[in-house]
Amino acid sequence: MGIDMRFGQWFLIAFLFGLASMPARADFEVFACEPEWTSLVREFMPDARFTTATSYLQDPHYIEARPSLIAAMRRADIAVCTGASLEAGWLPTLLQRAGNPKIQSGRPGLFFAADHARLHAPHEHVDRSMGDVHPEGNPHVHLSPDQLPRIAEALADRLGELRPDAATDIQARYIKWRVRWNNHRAEWQEKAKGLQGQAVVIQHTSFGYLLRWLGVEATIDLEPKPGLPPSASHLSELLSEPGLDAAGAILIASHQDRQPAEWLAKRTGKPVLVFPGTVTDEAPTETLAGLITTIVNGLEETMAGASYGSL
Ligand SMILES: [Zn+2]
Repeated sequence: MGIDMRFGQWFLIAFLFGLASMPARADFEVFACEPEWTSLVREFMPDARFTTATSYLQDPHYIEARPSLIAAMRRADIAVCTGASLEAGWLPTLLQRAGNPKIQSGRPGLFFAADHARLHAPHEHVDRSMGDVHPEGNPHVHLSPDQLPRIAEALADRLGELRPDAATDIQARYIKWRVRWNNHRAEWQEKAKGLQGQAVVIQHTSFGYLLRWLGVEATIDLEPKPGLPPSASHLSELLSEPGLDAAGAILIASHQDRQPAEWLAKRTGKPVLVFPGTVTDEAPTETLAGLITTIVNGLEETMAGASYGSL
């Protein structure tokens, strides 16, 4: 009798403990190729466990398939990556070495953001020997105010599919995120009015979608070919580019070498703007909305209303 009682109590405690731990999703393992996807999944499943393969200080095209990443991929319930060949140099090796059936090609556990976006400039990056291979189009789509909601919706659906018990909660969080995103987008649109028709010098197409959305032209690239580092000869050629005068700033990402931008800045007097190419660990750039706000504000402070040209 006494034993039965004790067993009953333990059973009750275990049962209640089980109930209490249900809302937590700490048992759901997320592997993200880039920090923007960690930040997006976290919006919908804040209690999941995350491993992020790259940081805003790294070039996402090139990383090493470290053993810790293989181990994280082995236990992942979902792998969220950009796709469109951005990770072509390292993701296939990781997937193969991890051998996790849940996230193999064609399985619901492997989610590519680019599959849910309309990519710009297909076939622009075509020769591997000449730089990055992005034949599907520019994969750096995470800063697109219009495309991100589509990606987010597909991602929330996928997470719900993989975790039906949490699907309602995930959908509710997605809807809240979408409302906030739309509000931000209206603010960015307002600020973009002052930036319409301005131009910047860029280095790679990292900010391409956002610039296009803002109406800012990016006709001059410090890279001679997409993915190839700026060379001295290319830089000196740029000095005689007819479009150079019209550029209000030189825009580069935190992970890029500043020297080429600074070299050009010294010769032209144009300001250099450095922004993280993706989310960071600190506010206000720890979310995609915060990052876009930071970039839009920075561009606006530097360029809005100013007129550039050789007169
Ligand atoms: Zn690229």
